[in-house]
Parts: sequence; C-alpha cells; structure tokens
Amino acid sequence: MRMNAGTRQASRLPTPAPRITRNPMSAFRSRFAPSPTGRLHLGHAFAALVVDEAARAAGGGWLLRIEDIDQTRCKPEFESAIFEDLAWLGLSWPEPVRIQSHHFDDYADALARLNAMNVIYRCFKTRKEILQEMQRAPHDASGDGPEGGVYLGPAEPMSQDESDARAASGEAFAWRVSMKAARARLDEKWDALSFIEEALDGGDAREIAVTPDLLGDLVVARKDAAVSYHLASVWDDARDGVNHVIRGEDLREAAHVHRVLQELLDLPAPRYRHHRLIANDAGVRLAKRDASYTLKAMRDEGVSPANIRERLDL
Ligand code: GLU
Repeated sequence: MRMNAGTRQASRLPTPAPRITRNPMSAFRSRFAPSPTGRLHLGHAFAALVVDEAARAAGGGWLLRIEDIDQTRCKPEFESAIFEDLAWLGLSWPEPVRIQSHHFDDYADALARLNAMNVIYRCFKTRKEILQEMQRAPHDASGDGPEGGVYLGPAEPMSQDESDARAASGEAFAWRVSMKAARARLDEKWDALSFIEEALDGGDAREIAVTPDLLGDLVVARKDAAVSYHLASVWDDARDGVNHVIRGEDLREAAHVHRVLQELLDLPAPRYRHHRLIANDAGVRLAKRDASYTLKAMRDEGVSPANIRERLDL
C-alpha cells in the first residue's frame, strides 16, 4: 500500500487525542512488536520471552502488535509465521492483534495534529543529501535508528510556499519533527523531559533526562510509508495502554525522542526496559541472513522450546 502522507493528511482536520485514562495503579502491560520482514529468529524469541516473563512477574499482561508499515518489506506469510512460531514457543496473547497497516488513518490523524502545531516539516532531500548534511553534525551522527541516521535539520528552513509547491508538483517527501520547533512548543517542559528506565528484572529504576538530539530531526512519516516506526509505535503504545515498553537495547536512544512525541501529542509516558541483543556464533547481532537461527530452522532440526529457553539463559 503506497500512500502519500502529505496529501492524505492535508485534507483531514486534526482529531482529538485517543481517550487514554491514566491510572498509576493500572496493571503492568507490555508488548512484543515484531515486523514481518522475515522468519522470527532466536533474538525475537528472546525478546518475546523476556516480555512474557516480565509480565508474569508483575502479574500483568502483554499484547502482540504486527509492525508492518513498510509494505515493501513486510510479507503476509511472515505475519502468519509469527503467530505459528510464538505459539510453538508456548506463548499466547490477546486478540485481536493490532496490525499497523490496517490503521494508516490513525497515524495520519497523529501526523495532522503535529502539523497543526507546526512542529513538523516536509523533507524532500534524498538519502545521499541527508548523508552529506550529516557530516556537519557536531557529534557522532553515524548511529542509525530504524529510520536511518541522525539528521539535525536543514541549515535554513524551506519556505512554506516552496514546500507546498514542491509537494503539489508530486515530489516525494518525508515528514520530520523539527526539534527546534518542538523545543519552542514545549517551552519549559522541554528541560524537564525524562523517562524511567528500569532494569530488565524491574528491580532498579533510574530517571534519565531526555537528550532529543540523539536522534535529531526524526522522521515521523517516511517517503514510502505515510508514517514511521517512531510515530506508529508511540501512538499504538499509548492507544493500547502499554505502560512498560520492553525492547532491544538498539532502541534505547529512541526513547529520548519518543518522549518528545508523547509530550507533543499529550500521551502518557511508559516506563522502559531494554534487553541485550542475541548474537550469532561469530558474535554479530542476529539478522535475516542468519537463516540457521530462525525458529523454523531450529524446530526442523529437532530443537525444542525448552532448548531455546536454555540456550537463552531463561
Ligand atoms: N518492530 C520493531 C522491531 O521489530 C520493534 C520495535 C519496538 O519494540 O519498539 O525491531
């Protein structure tokens, strides 16, 4: 499904935030949110089992969410394989499962709200141009989040007329949050922004001051996907009452900008836990190319769910 975020959202009026009742005593609720871009591997099993274990320990629950906004890389057969592999591991989850690609309208509403606040701008730059501009970033901007590298924004903002004209002519663009505009918008709240990072077992909690520049002017709607991981995930966590986000440590920095998005959109702040990433025998983080580590391949080799837990020290 290919949609143009700009034209989609321009015709929509901002809608109110989802009705989220904030109850500090509400039960622990987490989520496992895989993307169906390949078969689940040992690293996914670890993530799902950690979430399940944390929810059990806290007497709460977790939900499954399918993060398939990238319709070019996500495949329906991988989606059904997720259900199959998780069930094989012995996990269960509440239905219905939130499938992000069925909810592009929700994300367009969120985008329209950000647009109405003037905290996002269209970015027409190519990947190459962005990389060139990143050279001028004062800190190590090589780290890449799920949506690419750290880009601190244009030296000179584009005029609204030029932006509108280029969009009207059909030129492709992404929407980015202007951290400068977000800062001005949030004013004194900006300096007080923080999040709670808990130890994986929930034992130790630290308050971390937010450093939004860690991810720069983040993409909230991709050129090719009408929304980005960041916006969709923040929106859905709030919508589904997720109060404990548990995910890989590669996404620790994302928590900083997710707090900015939550504050702009008036969404509650979950607590965060980040787990280690599982590596292959060569010590490299598991990826799609590690075909022998998929749960399917391991299952076919006669590995049991109990063996998986053992291997993961769970
Ligand atoms: N869809 C993301 C992934 O598969 C999950 C990110 C998250 O848990 O927030 O890496």
